[in-house]
Amino acid sequence: MEAGVVDVAVETGDAALLAASAHRWQDMVATRTSLTGGLGSRQVGEVFGERYELPPDLSYNETCASAASIQWSWRLLLATGESRYAELIERTLYNAFAAARSADGRTYYKGNPLQRRPDHAEAVGDPRCRDEWFFSACCPPAVTRLVGSLEHYAVTTSEQAGAPTLHLHQYAPLTLSGPFAGGRVGLRIETEYPWRGRVEITVTEAPGGPWALALRVPPWSVRTRWDTPDEKGVEVTADEQGRAVLHRAWRPGDTVVLHLDLTPRLTLPHPRIDALRGCAAVERGPLVYCFEQTDQEDGAAVDDLALPPDAVFEEVAHDDLDGVGPTVTLRTRAAVVTGAHEAGLPYRTLGSAAAADTDRPVTATAVPYFQWDNRGDGAMRVWTPLLGG
Ligand SMILES: [Zn+2]
Repeated sequence: MEAGVVDVAVETGDAALLAASAHRWQDMVATRTSLTGGLGSRQVGEVFGERYELPPDLSYNETCASAASIQWSWRLLLATGESRYAELIERTLYNAFAAARSADGRTYYKGNPLQRRPDHAEAVGDPRCRDEWFFSACCPPAVTRLVGSLEHYAVTTSEQAGAPTLHLHQYAPLTLSGPFAGGRVGLRIETEYPWRGRVEITVTEAPGGPWALALRVPPWSVRTRWDTPDEKGVEVTADEQGRAVLHRAWRPGDTVVLHLDLTPRLTLPHPRIDALRGCAAVERGPLVYCFEQTDQEDGAAVDDLALPPDAVFEEVAHDDLDGVGPTVTLRTRAAVVTGAHEAGLPYRTLGSAAAADTDRPVTATAVPYFQWDNRGDGAMRVWTPLLGG
């Protein structure tokens, strides 16, 4: 419906209608969006919950909602040019949306929670894993439609005020050619993103005369550099829109290499999200990571894992991880925390030496969330308690 609202606003020039839709989008993102971009925290009714109601184990995050979010954000991006819409498209595409499909492409999730306990089943239909089919088969056509149109989400042009600009919103290997700035423009983009942060852009056709190339620099890329036709290894200064912009009279053969910083990082939730308080998530570039039971050593139960706030991650690239395919896993120092019971209850007195939680050091391994549940039905979690948190 919101996609239609934006379409009507643009067609009729109704600025107030457009502003209202953008306002609802902003509220949704700020208070009701999972780290994966997933939307809809309640399975019953397939609805949004209250503000900050984002339980990782129960959240519904329907695959169709991810597709719809991308379609809405895309229209707002076209209407306003603001890169925050491209940011949410990327987060949703690589995480909530991509996780729906199994690695072999034969099964899918309707709901996409951020945690699965070993003895826990909340999803509709088969409670524990992706389905081959589901009687309410809304998601498969939503997936095929979006995947079949992904080429349209990568690039836009603007030609206002005599300043023609080509905007790259998403990074993927592609070639493009089309009318621009009174002539034709062509680009070839080569990259192994999101596994690697290097994006090489070659101009293959140029309309003649100066124009601007604008590259989206995601906020997580702390140290971004680029090689331009004039100089190499320059630190990128993004504008207030989060874009690196280069004006010049481009010629065929000119290249720009963007180096995005994919250093793994810990992410904290807003303190009002009660269900996530004291936890952190692991991210690398646009990918949200999760801990799956099958990867953990020394009998470490995923449900007992805790991360040190100063966790450092070792990146391990796999050409073909069994059942998963190409990936980059992350290893880190962690701990298994065994919780204490007092008087048979799952609580204990603060400061009581007689009943204290104990922890034991382990090495924990995380995989990209979108690749989870391809190796058995063990526990999984995105949000993990911080030691001392
Ligand atoms: Zn659906």
